[in-house]
Amino acid sequence: MNLLSAPMRWHTLVFTGALLLASCAGSDGTSTASESENETSAKAQRIAAMKQVTDQHSFARPEEARITHLDWNARVDFDARTISGTATYDIEVAEDAQRIVFDTHELAIKEVLVDGEPVEHTLGAAQPFIGQPLTVPITPATKKVAIKYTSSPGADALLWVEAQGDKPPFLFTQSQAILARTWIPVQDSPGIRFSYDADVEVPKGMMALMSAENPTETNADGRYSFRMAQPIPAYLLALAAGEVEFRSVGERCAVYAVPELIDKAAYEFAEMEQLLLAAEELYGRYAWDRYDLLILPAAFPFGGMENPRLTFATPTIIAGDRSLVALVAHELAHSWSGNLVTNSTWDDFWLNEGFTVYFEQRIMEAVYGRETSEMLATLSYQGLVDEVDAISDLNPDDTHLKLHLAGRNPDDGMTAIAYDKGYFFLRLMEETVGRERFDEWLNGYFEAYAFKGMDTERFVEYLNSTLLADDADKAAVRIEDWIYGPGLPSNCPSVSSPRFERVDATLAAWGAGDLSTADLPWEEWIYQERYRFLSNLADDTPTERMAELDAAWGIGSTGNNEVLFAWMEQAIRSNYTPTYPRVESFLIEVGRRKFLTPLYRAMKETGQMEMALDIYGKARGGYHSVATGTMDELLDWKG
Ligand SMILES: [Zn+2]
Repeated sequence: MNLLSAPMRWHTLVFTGALLLASCAGSDGTSTASESENETSAKAQRIAAMKQVTDQHSFARPEEARITHLDWNARVDFDARTISGTATYDIEVAEDAQRIVFDTHELAIKEVLVDGEPVEHTLGAAQPFIGQPLTVPITPATKKVAIKYTSSPGADALLWVEAQGDKPPFLFTQSQAILARTWIPVQDSPGIRFSYDADVEVPKGMMALMSAENPTETNADGRYSFRMAQPIPAYLLALAAGEVEFRSVGERCAVYAVPELIDKAAYEFAEMEQLLLAAEELYGRYAWDRYDLLILPAAFPFGGMENPRLTFATPTIIAGDRSLVALVAHELAHSWSGNLVTNSTWDDFWLNEGFTVYFEQRIMEAVYGRETSEMLATLSYQGLVDEVDAISDLNPDDTHLKLHLAGRNPDDGMTAIAYDKGYFFLRLMEETVGRERFDEWLNGYFEAYAFKGMDTERFVEYLNSTLLADDADKAAVRIEDWIYGPGLPSNCPSVSSPRFERVDATLAAWGAGDLSTADLPWEEWIYQERYRFLSNLADDTPTERMAELDAAWGIGSTGNNEVLFAWMEQAIRSNYTPTYPRVESFLIEVGRRKFLTPLYRAMKETGQMEMALDIYGKARGGYHSVATGTMDELLDWKG
């Protein structure tokens, strides 16, 4: 996912095939003796791996019984706001297994069948955040479990975007971190992987899309079939339904968007294939066949979500000049870090996101040059320092890379720590051992752990026996300080951007009155420089000077939402009221949490709570649950 701090962030395979082959062999009854021995040992290894880590956010007990494949039959009902269907799982069981446990959250379970026969199931007590365990009795011989169910109209993963004027309705899911269980009963733990097939019915006129092989045209009957051959964890299950069109932008890349955005999207993301090639050049073959992008309604709570084969993205990255493609680089990088090698639990989230920010930076450097990627790194550093300050006051343990989220919402771990502290840790290792060695090591890491889970402790062991086997390198990096220690260690790599230094000097001169507004080089600046200037304006900038900037630059009408956002935040902090109507319309239209949180917080911190609550009251119904969860708390919303 893509996140909060720097202007862009938030959501494979060197495919060895070993895991898939292992789970398929034998099911057709043709495996030879040695294949079945291999299969048995592969199964033993997988079960041993499952026993190594405990996921505090899932009821599943994969060491007893785990899912390996899903057959999903479902119908999407926009009127009732429900998804009804049957989830049929192939399962793998331990020798003494007596039950299999699934995660559910506010699902109505209608019936459970084990190998075709109805059985009594048990739904345990609901617990905060994690929902209810669904326990199904099985035997060691059980092959399939089918669950008939309906989701609740308030399911947290789903956002039912209402029709507005001539805009038809839209549905999308956001399953990460633990919301898949609100729309499908599943073993919702990132360490458990399964392949899937699906048959989905949506209203006529809509196209359905999943994190799978996708259609390219709308079917007359609203019925669609999907196949995801590579095993994925539940948080990468995704579904969208709406009136969208398909447009190819490369051999393996395409965009999906509503008709009014499809041309703009095709132009904006025309360079996707180049990013994909650059990524493969760095860290090995792309393992998911196609890489497509779905532009969602503006209510989408994140920048992007790395759903395999089909990244879900906010339309706020369509700037008209391809300036915000770093988000695509981020989501694409997840095809390796996250989707291929996956954090075993949400305490290990930095293994997904820190690697992805590092990889994103390398793609940006390869395609757009070091000067651009260093500007991004500088923004990342600035965001990280601010976040460390903010979190250290509240809960210093949350500044460790390895988190402690038991009993909490894993969403609490989605801070700049996992992303940017993770990034600087990897950058430190790169700078310590040299880029060539580091890249070779990272290639090996992705290959060795493709389609597997990884937890922090095993990662540290791996690191100590491979890249940092040398004592001098170990001493230089100080792994423990970074992973299990607070704040930002003193050996954090330094970044500098001469272009930002010039922006800072220009801002200082302007602030001191030594430079007139007319002499500011706005037209020469790229968006990162504009963002830097606006986001570093002093809170007490007089409104007359804000008005000068506004008149000179017409920022309120920029197509770049990062620049607009930086301006609006400053406008709120400087009490520059002419921008307030734009703030309100933006907050009602856009549901991206990275923008919402600082804007509402700015109102709160400057004594403008009345305005914040007024706007939030109008906008809240259009936001996704992950955004309302954060804003309700920030604004102490009582409804
Ligand atoms: Zn991400």
